[in-house]
Amino acid sequence: MSRELWINAGSVLAVDPNASVKCPECGEADLKVFDTKAGEDHIERHMRCPRCGAYSALYKNITE
Ligand SMILES: [Zn+2]
Repeated sequence: MSRELWINAGSVLAVDPNASVKCPECGEADLKVFDTKAGEDHIERHMRCPRCGAYSALYKNITE
């Protein structure tokens, strides 16, 4: 169930990393987002909850 919420969170944060998205696990804090470079044309976007430590990441093509 939280898997679907992570997918929703990821789809929002892929477009707008400054969006306020509640943690899919605890639902009580907004996810913190930061990017790292992943090769020439992708970034890895990390999403972490400052409250419970839940974490996920997604790859994003930055050449589009
Ligand atoms: Zn949380």
